[in-house]
This record gives sequence, structure tokens and C-alpha cells, in this order.
Amino acid sequence: MNIIMLGPPGSGKGTQGGLLAEQLQVRHLSTGDLFREILNDPSHPLYPQVQVVKEGKLVSDEVVNLVVEHGIQKPEYQEGVLFDGYPRTIAQAEALEHILTSTGQKVDLVIDLDVSREVLFVRILGRQVCPKCKQTYHKKQGFQACPACGEALVCRSDDNEETIVKRLQEYDAKTAPLRDYYRNSRAEYITLSISDASLSPDDVNQQIMEVLNQRGIIQDEI
Ligand SMILES: [Zn+2]
Repeated sequence: MNIIMLGPPGSGKGTQGGLLAEQLQVRHLSTGDLFREILNDPSHPLYPQVQVVKEGKLVSDEVVNLVVEHGIQKPEYQEGVLFDGYPRTIAQAEALEHILTSTGQKVDLVIDLDVSREVLFVRILGRQVCPKCKQTYHKKQGFQACPACGEALVCRSDDNEETIVKRLQEYDAKTAPLRDYYRNSRAEYITLSISDASLSPDDVNQQIMEVLNQRGIIQDEI
């Protein structure tokens, strides 16, 4: 099963994707990880193309597509993939369709995390990250140090109001059109509307699993 998570920055795509990948037993494919892997391997055929990342420049659709096309061929991704952070544009979605079709696959399920702007702001402005294990927390949890590894938590410098507004505008312009694209595709499409900032990641995960059950996409286990 190939799954795509849609949702604006701060919607919890990464966290929900990680939980779902485990529950549905598909591999979690993060484009960020693919890029890091290539950047650490000068002998990789795509090494020259990904250097733009180091320069902090925007990576073109073309390069992102190449990285995904290359990465997805690894044996561990043959049984199905949950895509995290990809596709982000219509051009990327079209490329993905092409990549999957060439191996007789398709996007089977799209999960749209439709989180209200109020909730996004509460989440992003309160976000703290562990520099070591990358786990994220919220200020309201009251941690000074990472409960997992003890490292002092930090706020990301781009988690401020001005940057969030910019990132949301970019999402609306480039990524939000994917919702219509996938609604009109053969994939199962699930929307989860979230306007309650007090919902925990586990609450949201439970809601997703309930919908998947209701729609008969997964069988109730336990
Ligand atoms: Zn940590």
C-alpha cells in the first residue's frame, strides 16, 4: 500500500506518518532522510545534484523527483511506502504517479490532515525540538530537557509568526492544490478536520485509525 500524507506545516504529518507506517506495516519514506543520505555519500550518483541543499537554496521539483525515484528502488520500499514530505507540488505528484506506474503500483491512500490555522499557530509557536534525537515537544509539556535523551530542548529559529505565515502561503499556493488532484484520483481519500489544539498525537492517530476501519481500508485488529 502506498500512502501520502497531506497537511500544512505544523499539522503533525511527520508524527502521524511515523505512527501509521508502523501500524500499517509500510516503510516511512522521508525525503529529508534521502537527501541527508546522499549528502553523506560523495560516491552517490546524485551527489552533485543535491549540493543545492547545502547552499540553502530551494530544491527544484526535478531534483526532488530524481532523489525519490532513486530512493524508492531500494528493496525495503517494495512492499509499500508512506511518503512524508512528498509530493509537495502538482509536478511532483505527476512524477510520483509516473514512478509508481512503471512498477505496476499507484497511490492507494491519501490522508489529508486539515488542521485549522488557529491550531497550527498554537502548535508551531510552542514547538520545542531536541537537537540530538529530533523529537518535538510542546512548551505546555513543561520540559527543559529531552525526556528521551536528556539534551536541552531548543526552539527552531524559523518557528516564528512571520515565517509561519510565509510557509502557510507557500503551502496554499503549491501544496494545497494537491488536495483536488488526489480527490479526483483513484486513491482512497480521507480528510481529518482538526480544530481542537488540545488533541494529542495519539488522539489524532486514533481518529485516523477509526476512519480507516470504517472505510474498510484496514481490518480491526487486537
Ligand atoms: Zn532527545
